[in-house]
Parts: sequence; C-alpha cells; structure tokens
Amino acid sequence: MKIDLHNHTTRCNHATGTIDQYIERAIDLGIEVYGFSEHAPMDFDEGYRVSFEDMGDYEADVLAARERYRDRLDIRLGYEVDWFPGHMDDRVLNADVDFLIGSVHFLEKWGFDNPEFIGEWEARDIDTVWRDYFAAVEAMAESGLFDIVGHLDLIKLFKHLPATDIRTLAHPALEAIARSDMVLEINTAGLRKPVAELYPSRTLLEEAFALGIPITFGSDAHTLEQVGAGYDQAIALAQSVGYTQAVTFRKRNKQMVKF
Ligand code: ZN
Ligand code: FE
Ligand code: FE
Ligand code: ZN
Repeated sequence: MKIDLHNHTTRCNHATGTIDQYIERAIDLGIEVYGFSEHAPMDFDEGYRVSFEDMGDYEADVLAARERYRDRLDIRLGYEVDWFPGHMDDRVLNADVDFLIGSVHFLEKWGFDNPEFIGEWEARDIDTVWRDYFAAVEAMAESGLFDIVGHLDLIKLFKHLPATDIRTLAHPALEAIARSDMVLEINTAGLRKPVAELYPSRTLLEEAFALGIPITFGSDAHTLEQVGAGYDQAIALAQSVGYTQAVTFRKRNKQMVKF
C-alpha cells in the first residue's frame, strides 16, 4: 500500500496547487492513503502557516474532499505542528483530526531551515546546533503530544554536518521516540534540499529499526510536482533497513499496513 501523509495546501502561503490537484496527482501515482498536514496555526511566524481563523475552513475543505473522493482515495486530515515551547495551542493540540506531525523548525526563535536565516549558521558552532536540535526532538517526543516525528534529521538540510557521530547526537532522541510510541516518517523533501538525502538518513533509520520504532511516509509536498516525488527511494530505503510495514492514522489511532 502506498502512503503519503505529509502534504501542504495554499493556506500556509508558501505552497501552490489546489487540494483537488494534489488529490488527482496522488490518484495518478497509485497512492492509496493520502494525508494533508498543513502547518498549524501559532502566534509566531504567522506568515508561513494557516491562521487560527482559517483552521475550520482548512479542516472543512479536506473533509469535503474526503467525501468527494471517497471511492477513489482514502484521505486523512492532519496538521504539522511546530515543537515550540510557549507557542503551542490547545486549539491545535486538541483538534479533531486523524494525526498530528510534530516538527522542530525553530531553535529558540531561529528558523534554521529557512534560507532567509542561513547566515545565522556562520555565527554558531555546528555540533552545538545539532545537540540543541536533537534535545528539542527528545523533548517533543517526551511531551507525548504528537503522533509522527516530522523529518527527524531536518537539521542537516543545508549540509552543515557535525564532527560528532550523528548516532551519538541522535540516540537520546530516538530512545525517547521509542518510549513515546511515536512513528517516524520517511520524508522525501530532503532529496530536494542541498543535502540531497531522505530524512532520516540510512544510518538513523537503522538505529530506529533496532529500537522498534515504526515508520510512515510523507512527501512534504508544497507543489504539485512534489506529490509522491522520491517515493520509490523512500520505499527502497525502508525495505533495505528491514521494514515491511508502515503506519497510518485515523482519529489519532495507529493502523499498521504492508507497504
Ligand atoms: Zn512548509
Ligand atoms: Fe516541516
Ligand atoms: Fe511539511
Ligand atoms: Zn515539513
């Protein structure tokens, strides 16, 4: 079964293509479970996410599409939520959705994955940034607020690689993910970034497999062309590491399927 749970809509102001176009593309590609996971509202960085005001419309649009396409595609509703202590909101955390992806995009107030703020990397020690990043992922897992870990090693995107072994840096976070029963997504967006690798890397996916952490799949599409892009590579990586099953969510409950 082909699964893609991580897709954006125009409501985040940095994606193009309509919900219907994404769905038609997913159907053409043979995807069977397809999830929308718009950047959830937050009182920070408001320009890059749906607003609290429009949450209801976003959810209604996806649910209407689910009805419209019910014979052709299994559509799921979710949010990609920023792990950002002090800025997480119960309206999002308690939303009536199928799944919540938890993602670290900010260290303090630094949006480290935004090319606008890439200059900040020059002012910082790379190993310290990686440590801070995985400490945030660990805290996110320990919070128990989310179902899926978004792009586990996003911090590598611009190819600022640490001197310390990445396994050492990520291990406490992976142990916390295993304890929290969260699911790791294999996210293909890294293929289109300077690092040109899936999230997570093979090395970290092997660690996750050894810890018994389940997986799901996401293309993190912000354009029509990105829907399902790199999917074959994601499958090949998962299989070569030993995975045979993946997880989808309905109303925050896990469903295991063969992929
Ligand atoms: Zn985005
Ligand atoms: Fe993200
Ligand atoms: Fe995303
Ligand atoms: Zn993302």
